[in-house]
Amino acid sequence: MNMANCTDAHCPVHGEVLPRGRRFTGVVTSDRMSKTATVEWAGRKYLPKYERYIKRRTKVHAHNPECINARKGERVIIAECRPLSKTKHFVVIKTLGVDIKMQLKEELRIAERKKLEGEEYASSKSTDN
Ligand SMILES: [Zn+2]
Repeated sequence: MNMANCTDAHCPVHGEVLPRGRRFTGVVTSDRMSKTATVEWAGRKYLPKYERYIKRRTKVHAHNPECINARKGERVIIAECRPLSKTKHFVVIKTLGVDIKMQLKEELRIAERKKLEGEEYASSKSTDN
């Protein structure tokens, strides 16, 4: 869908949703829901007891308007907004293109699976004889 005929009421550009509050940059880890993206980013949390930081990942659902249409593996900027549904109170406002780190991870995963499937295929062939 192009920019001109976006009819999404929850679109930050064409709808009446006003992004306000905090903004984050994260990576889309799932785009399988309709008009919704799962966005993840890493942060640090200070532990006073040990006087050290621990890595924490934050995962939220963000509204993904059709005129933006962020895909899995893309880096996006999301902004907090009013609750759009039970679990959505963020909206994707910009995509920054494919995240290299995520892409490498995904490629590695696919390669691993292909390797495993190849082995399975070979073992099933050998048991046939
Ligand atoms: Zn739109």
